[in-house]
Amino acid sequence: MLRLLKPNMKGMSMQIASKDISAVSMVKAALEKAEKYQDYHVFVSLNSENALKKAAEIDAKIARGEKVGRLAGVPYALKDNFLSPEGKTTASSKILEPLESPITATAVKKLEAEGAIMIGRTNMDSFAHGSSTENSYFGPTSNSKDKARVAGGSSGGSAVAVALDIVPFATGTDTGGSIRQPASFNGVYGFKPTYGTISRYGVVAMASSTDCVGFFTQNPEDMDLLMQICAGQDSYDMTTLPDFYTTTQSRQDSPRIGIIKDFDNDAVHPEIRRALTEKVDELKKAGYEIVELSMPALKYALAVYYIVVPAEVSSNLSRHDGIRYGYRSAEAETLSEVYGKSRSDGFMPENKRRIMIGNFVLSSGFYDAYYLKAQKARTLIIQEYAKAFEKCDFILTPVSPNPAFKLGEKVNDPVSMYMEDVMSVPINLAGLPSLTIPVGKTPEGLDLGLQIIGPRRSDAAIIALAMQAGDALRGPAAPARILRDGVDGDTKRQDPREEEVK
Ligand code: GLN
Repeated sequence: MLRLLKPNMKGMSMQIASKDISAVSMVKAALEKAEKYQDYHVFVSLNSENALKKAAEIDAKIARGEKVGRLAGVPYALKDNFLSPEGKTTASSKILEPLESPITATAVKKLEAEGAIMIGRTNMDSFAHGSSTENSYFGPTSNSKDKARVAGGSSGGSAVAVALDIVPFATGTDTGGSIRQPASFNGVYGFKPTYGTISRYGVVAMASSTDCVGFFTQNPEDMDLLMQICAGQDSYDMTTLPDFYTTTQSRQDSPRIGIIKDFDNDAVHPEIRRALTEKVDELKKAGYEIVELSMPALKYALAVYYIVVPAEVSSNLSRHDGIRYGYRSAEAETLSEVYGKSRSDGFMPENKRRIMIGNFVLSSGFYDAYYLKAQKARTLIIQEYAKAFEKCDFILTPVSPNPAFKLGEKVNDPVSMYMEDVMSVPINLAGLPSLTIPVGKTPEGLDLGLQIIGPRRSDAAIIALAMQAGDALRGPAAPARILRDGVDGDTKRQDPREEEVK
């Protein structure tokens, strides 16, 4: 028997609006799952009381026959670097642990205006510095398929919240891969929009020239809905673009897909190479034209990123001085001790490493050799993508060189951790949109993802391609939406939403 038991979010909110199911029971189910999966350490804090209160308000509105939003009653998880007065925004750091925000991030405002309900704040690498969520002050998050492995990062908690089906979507930020890499490690969709598509207002800054707000979802349709809701110009963020998302021609007739032939293949795990080759073959069979690209400047991207980003990090983190926000050391007696001790206790080792590198590359005597040179190489990378997009419409590449690695394996070796970002950071340097799609699994059951990259403002087209290329791109790891007798054909997990929906 085939039953469609796991609707997308549009379907969920329609079921709520038509009183098939109440917002309260939907939120309760999400909170119960959050408790059930506690040992994965997905959340830094839960928002149970507020969430249930808001759900009851939505149910009451529906009972009175009032109009509700496009996400009415849909529970979601918020990465812990989005400011809102609900709970504390810690960015998974000690220095912000006491912070109660008086303001709400624009993206959060837009989601809440449509009736979405935040059930908790997700764990992340402190200040989003990292690729595994092991740099969190509160301890690491586990991978959704193997508890001994990393969730990826920095938005590890958000990716696992969606992968374990605690919530249908979660927010993330992507400065150099923090949405796409954990999405790929956990078999979900993760989208980093064109730089400036969604307002960064109210998001704890990492590197202002590459930070992007985006999402994790279980399917591309939900991603499209979230983009329609959240994209747009914001007077509080002068880098936002006028809304292009809904007006862009989204579907392309016979898109040409580029693959990069001069990536260092030996550095890429054989299972990821296999997945890429298989998908390219399937795309060819489905009639897509495949174009081989040579992109030699991409080999500079990692070095450029780890100069430009720490430079911006050192500037953005200078505001955390123990005076204005959050934690202040109780042992400090003089002003300079307040600064020194608060920052010394409050930041994690990786935060400090970036502050040191950033100040070094910006200091007189080194600025020309490092920062200026990196900016020139960044321009080369931007130009190289522009040339590539004259030959193809999208580029398909791995997201990271390896599937989820073991907890503890790389955290004490920063350079090997940075190497994990080699395929995700060039996209941020060029401000391009890119979507992680789950494409399969390793023999041990670890998730594999690939990313579709497009030119600036091709966001809707990328998401349309993910829907359109359907089976040729989507692997068995994508959470199945059609269930046989209530059992997910791929993972053999009982659909956790089944009880409420039937
Ligand atoms: N892993 C990358 C870094 O540590 C990217 C982080 C991010 O996108 N926030 O810089």
